[in-house]
Amino acid sequence: MESQAYGPAGYFLGSLRKGDDLLAGLDGWCRDNRVTCGLIWVIGSLSRAVLGFYDQQERVYRSFRLDEPLEIVSGSGNVSLKDGRPFCHVHLVVADSRGRCFGGHLMPDCSVFAAEVHLAILDGAAPVRLADKNTGLSLWDLRAPGPTDGGA
Ligand code: ZN
Repeated sequence: MESQAYGPAGYFLGSLRKGDDLLAGLDGWCRDNRVTCGLIWVIGSLSRAVLGFYDQQERVYRSFRLDEPLEIVSGSGNVSLKDGRPFCHVHLVVADSRGRCFGGHLMPDCSVFAAEVHLAILDGAAPVRLADKNTGLSLWDLRAPGPTDGGA
């Protein structure tokens, strides 16, 4: 396992409002605050979810849409650099009105009903996402450090 050490550089609580796009809201906040390295947690509810699953054979994301009120049971992820810009990578578990859960990679077009966000900003060289030939994904290359400013 490759690794890098990071220290705490700040902790934010955030709130997204009804109708916000969850992923765009997180990406936008990181861009606006020049955050390139951190951890994300989110709970709340959605009025629509679009989640992804990476098809390892075809090397593409398949997405599915849930057009109903959903609880965000758990959401966690991180911020790093991709193509020189902050990139939020978040996975969600959502539950329907009977508690049935669905999970996957957070995709665009998840409509927030209400969401509470925790962001832990890390101090150190931001991880950089590079194309990985073995998986077809953009994965961290912890040997290729990005800008050292990890926080707002
Ligand atoms: Zn993912």
